[in-house]
Amino acid sequence: HFITFEGIDGSGKSTQARRLAEHLRSLGHDVILTREPGGSPGAEEIRALVLQGDPDRWSAETELLLFTAARRDHMERLIQPAVDAGKIVICDRFADSTRMYQGLSRGDLRGKVDTLHDLMIGREPDLTILIDMNPGQGLARAKGRQGTEERFEDFGTDLQEKMRAGFLGLAKEFSDRFRTINGAQDIDAVAQDVQAATAAYLS
Ligand code: C5P
Repeated sequence: HFITFEGIDGSGKSTQARRLAEHLRSLGHDVILTREPGGSPGAEEIRALVLQGDPDRWSAETELLLFTAARRDHMERLIQPAVDAGKIVICDRFADSTRMYQGLSRGDLRGKVDTLHDLMIGREPDLTILIDMNPGQGLARAKGRQGTEERFEDFGTDLQEKMRAGFLGLAKEFSDRFRTINGAQDIDAVAQDVQAATAAYLS
């Protein structure tokens, strides 16, 4: 099984991905918890190339190619072998983030994102958990997180609002695999909803 978490910055998806991994392990499942961009040694190198240093180093198109290259490596080396071995792979962000960040926030590249995905990745998650969150709340949380040298997208509320709407649009577009959860609740309540959505999918 391949499960992904999506949401705007500060939505709490990384915490929830970790909580779900712990929960499923406690039930006896063999779980791999990973993240994008990155997740395999090669893809982590690409992550550093893209997210550290000058944000204008790459054009939007080149950035899309780098993210796709990273995802291909992650898929080949980690995700697909683990799924084939019967494990549950939980990934913090995946192609839906590229549909939003590379496809929407830096111009309209969605067509190219989808073409490259079909050509080079060719697989969607089985279940995608969208942690939906009001941008003001998300931004406040993300800003409280210190110590990262990585680019932090201080989009401002308008763009964050656009990203939130974009994710909700993806949830409609891929309604077979998306489950949207209210991220404004306290962490335990969100975790409960995530567990319920996952249990329904696994049953
Ligand atoms: O999920 P995480 O907070 O680690 O993501 C780090 C940053 O990478 C985010 O702020 C996001 O703006 C950026 N990102 C991106 N394109 C992706 C995935 C993440 O620009 N496909």
